[in-house]
Amino acid sequence: MARTSTVKSAPPEDRKRRLGKIIEKLNRAHPDAKLDLNFSNPLELLVALILAAQARDDLVNQITADVFKKYRSAEDYARASLSKLEEDLRRINFYRNKARSVQNCCKEIVARFQRKVPENLDDLLALPGVGRKTANIVLGNAFGKQTIGVDTHVMRLSQRLGLTSNTDADKIEFDLIPLVPEKLRVRFCHLLQYHGRRVCLAKKPRCPECVINSLCPYPDKTKASHEPNKD
Ligand code: SF4
Repeated sequence: MARTSTVKSAPPEDRKRRLGKIIEKLNRAHPDAKLDLNFSNPLELLVALILAAQARDDLVNQITADVFKKYRSAEDYARASLSKLEEDLRRINFYRNKARSVQNCCKEIVARFQRKVPENLDDLLALPGVGRKTANIVLGNAFGKQTIGVDTHVMRLSQRLGLTSNTDADKIEFDLIPLVPEKLRVRFCHLLQYHGRRVCLAKKPRCPECVINSLCPYPDKTKASHEPNKD
């Protein structure tokens, strides 16, 4: 408990130092951390991210294995009959909405961006259905920019680790930017995603076996998930 308040009131330099150690330890624990969606170009990643909303990455990968062979450009999606695209995406949840989102997004790419996924945040955000999380993940993973895409794991773990007290994804991104070394921003997101899936689970985090236990404000979170949280 004392650790929780110490961490939360720590000056920014102390937070940065603690985060540096967290990244170091997570790097050793999850050397294989990466984005789990398969893609070979920015358009494929953008489509995969639209399909991945509230869906498992492995299912998205199964579906895109066929879809990416069939639709090779933004024009292919833009010109497809919507019912055919829906049929090709039918195994994913909300496939009708997602088919429409993919198509509208691609129509805009064709009409306004010379058929290419734009490489900057403002233009990506201008695409229908693309928010900051998706735009930052595309920029970070398909264009090699150092961005922070706040997905569910990045959000939850940043809160648990006392790196933010915000609950809004955009505000969390702005809290993290000054703390995370620029060249490690994409890596940091992959590490939190893997740690969130393997160890710091949402309902029952595995605190006793966690490599960053000594740096976490909630080292007994496992216990706290069964008892009222007194923090
Ligand atoms: S100590 Fe527990 S709450 Fe903290 S990061 Fe590790 S698993 Fe998550």
